[in-house]
Amino acid sequence: MPEGHTIHRLAKDHTAHFVGRSVRLTSPQGRFADGARLLDGRALLRVEPYGKHLFYDFGAERVLHVHLGLYGSFTPGSQPAPEPRGLVRLRLETSETYVDLRGPTACELLDPAGVARVRDRLGPDPLRRDGAATEFARRLLRRSTPLGAALMDQAVVAGVGNVYRAESLFLLRLSPFVPARSIGEQHALAAWALLQRLLRAGVRAGRIVTTDPAHRARRSGPARADDAHYVYRRTGLQCRVCATPVRTEVMAGRNLHWCPGCQSGSDG
Ligand SMILES: [Zn+2]
Repeated sequence: MPEGHTIHRLAKDHTAHFVGRSVRLTSPQGRFADGARLLDGRALLRVEPYGKHLFYDFGAERVLHVHLGLYGSFTPGSQPAPEPRGLVRLRLETSETYVDLRGPTACELLDPAGVARVRDRLGPDPLRRDGAATEFARRLLRRSTPLGAALMDQAVVAGVGNVYRAESLFLLRLSPFVPARSIGEQHALAAWALLQRLLRAGVRAGRIVTTDPAHRARRSGPARADDAHYVYRRTGLQCRVCATPVRTEVMAGRNLHWCPGCQSGSDG
């Protein structure tokens, strides 16, 4: 599933290509035909990312809400756009460019009350200016669920997914299994600061790289894919720091990866 950094990058791209222009909207697949018709030809005022959600404000209290979920994706291109292929839920186009949306969890037209309902379910987003460390700490420290589950809860922090969960807990040397509320405010604030730093780096790079060059197999040049993470998808491989084999188990519906050596009290 795309994490917050990808959503914020998409918002930047779509702002550059579509905001301030009259946008043609169609639903080649037909499942969003009514919504597309209501928005078709309007000028897009702005694109706002929030966690894993995108909001496209077309004015007149009409907002397109997109959540990619596990399988959704955008495919961009230049005009002339080809015939839509596969199940294209939504095509946005101007005279110069187009983007096809396939397989989203949500693609719907909302009014301001609908937008507020979605936003009310979300915790602070570390990539947004209104994302507040204290609000994150307050929400996290109310949870009695394991820390690794709480970080995946979008009502605690918006935009964090499976990769950032695993890597941030490793970098903080925190066990994913302790109750979230037990870590204390200082650790919660440190977690926020780290997530903010990691997500911002993800927006800049367009990928998630958490490793220090000194911990990579190849220390010079950009991190290769198999050198980019400390624990994520490294099950059974030696920890880059302490050589303990990295472990995995399902937590909050996704494979959690962690190092039992570095993340103390985390024997699982
Ligand atoms: Zn380790």
